Amino acid sequence: MTAHAAAAREHAVVIGLEVHVQLETDTKIFCGCGTNFEDDEPNSHTCPTCLGLPGALPVLNEAAVEAGLKLATAIDADVPDETRFHRKNYYYPDLPKNFQITQYDSPLCENGALTVAIEDDEREIAIERAHLEEDPGSLQHAGGSGGIDTAEYTRVDYNRAGVPLMEIVTEPDFRGPEEVRAFLAKLTEVLEYLDVFDSSRDGSLRVDANISLVPGEDIEADGTIETEALTAANRTEVKNISSHKGAEKALAYEVTRQRNALQRDRTIEQETRHWDESRGVTVSMRSKEEEKDYRYFAEPDLPVLQVADRAEAVEIPELPDARRERFREEYGLSQAAARKLTSTRAVADFYERVADRFDPDVAASWVADTLLGELNYRDMRIGDVEDRFDGFVRLVELAETGEITEKNAEEVVLRAMLDEDLGPDDVIEREGLGATGEDEIERAVATAIDENPGAVEDYHTGEDGALNFLVGQVMGATGGSADPGTVNQLLRDELDG
Ligand code: ADP
Ligand code: ZN
Ligand code: MG
Repeated sequence: MTAHAAAAREHAVVIGLEVHVQLETDTKIFCGCGTNFEDDEPNSHTCPTCLGLPGALPVLNEAAVEAGLKLATAIDADVPDETRFHRKNYYYPDLPKNFQITQYDSPLCENGALTVAIEDDEREIAIERAHLEEDPGSLQHAGGSGGIDTAEYTRVDYNRAGVPLMEIVTEPDFRGPEEVRAFLAKLTEVLEYLDVFDSSRDGSLRVDANISLVPGEDIEADGTIETEALTAANRTEVKNISSHKGAEKALAYEVTRQRNALQRDRTIEQETRHWDESRGVTVSMRSKEEEKDYRYFAEPDLPVLQVADRAEAVEIPELPDARRERFREEYGLSQAAARKLTSTRAVADFYERVADRFDPDVAASWVADTLLGELNYRDMRIGDVEDRFDGFVRLVELAETGEITEKNAEEVVLRAMLDEDLGPDDVIEREGLGATGEDEIERAVATAIDENPGAVEDYHTGEDGALNFLVGQVMGATGGSADPGTVNQLLRDELDG
C-alpha cells in the first residue's frame, strides 16, 4: 500500500444532512392554493401569490406552523419566543419571485436530537435547527435523454411552488452512509406518527448530504471531531436525493470518489454535486455557493411570529420508541414483534384493537406475521384494511375457537378476504370449510386405526412417531380441516382405551 492509500484509509467519513420534508397541510404555506395536485394539470393550483405576481402578498398558514411545532416537540428542540421569515435571493426558473421565503437567523426551532438505532447501538444525532420555508416549483427536463444536463428543453410547473417544507439541518454526526439511511427511516417514522408527513407522496422527502473525509489525527479519542477540523475539511454537497436508499447509495459513491481522489493525492473540491439516480453517480454542478451570495434580508410582508405559547400548547402522540417500549412491557412482546407492530402508527393502533379482544401474543402473531405478511405480498398497507377490522376479528375468533383450522384461516379465508373483499363467513360457506363434524373425525380415526395395524402396534411398543403418523392419516382424510389437537386426543382415547 502506498503512503497515500494508507492515509486515505485513515480518514473518517463525516456526513451532515439538510433534509427537506413536505408538511401535510390542505393548502400552501403562504396562499390558499391546494396541495393535492398529484394527478392534476401543471400550473392548475396557482394564484398571484405563489406565481409571484406584483402586489400579491403572503399570508402564513397556521397549519404549517402547527406541524412544524409538532416536529420541534418530537425532537425536543428549543422553540424561541419569536421567529421570523427571510428572503433568500437567487434566480432560477422554478422560483417566480426570484427569492424564496425561508427562515434564516431565527428558525422555528434549534438544538434538537433524534435517537437512531444503528446495528445494536443507539446513536443520538444532533439537529442543529429546523425551519419553515416554501418549496419552489418543479422543472421537468424533456427531450433528448431528459437528463438535467442533456435535455433539449425544460418545462416548469408551479403547482409545487409554495408547498410548505420543513428543512431539518443535522450536525455532522454521521460516520457512514448506512447511518444516514437509518436516520432517514427514523425521521420518516416520527413524522408519520405526528401525522404531518406522507412518505408515499411524490417528492415529499429531499435530502442534501454534505460529506467530507477528515484525517484520522483530527479525531479525538472519544470519536468526536473538533469544529476547526470540520471546517477545514473540504466537503461536497450532494443534491437531488429523494429516498433513504438513494441517500445511502449516493453517499457510498461519494465516499469512494473522495477516497480515490485522496489516494491519487488530488484535492477534493468544495462543490455542489448532483446525484444521478439512473446512472448511480454524482456529477459536479457548480462550486459551492456561500451564504453571502443569497443576500438574505427580513421578509417585510410577514410580521414577526410569536410562537412560544403555541409551542407549549402543542400536543403530540406517543412516539415510536416509547410505544415500542410500552408494547414490550404491557403485552410482553419480543423486541422484534414490538418493532414490527409499531412500524407505523396505523399498524400499532390496529394491533392494540386486536390485542383488546384476544391474548396479546395471539394478536401479535396474527397481525405481525400473518396479516402484515399477506398485505406486504399484495403491496397493501394496513390503511387499506382498517375498514375490514371487524371481519379480521371474526376470522381470528373462528380460528381461535377451532371452528376452522388455523391453516384454512390463514391460507384460504384471509387471502380471499384480501383479494376479493369478502367477509370470513362468506368465504367459509363458499369453500365449505366449516369445522369438520365430530362424527366425521371419529370415523376417520376409526378408519386410520383399522387400516394401519403396524402403526398401532408401534404405538403400543412406545415408538415415537407412530401417533404422528396416525394423526397425519386422519388430517389427510378430513382434508386438513380437522383440529390436530382434537385428532390427537381422539386417537389416544381410542388406542389407550
Ligand atoms: P454552510 O456554510 O454550508 O451553511 P453549515 O455549518 O451550516 O455550513 O452546515 C451545513 C451542513 O453541512 C450541515 O448539515 C452540517 O452538518 C454539514 N457539515 C458541516 N461540516 C461538515 C463536514 N466537515 N463534513 C460533512 N458535513 C459537514
Ligand atoms: Zn397560490
Ligand atoms: Mg448553513
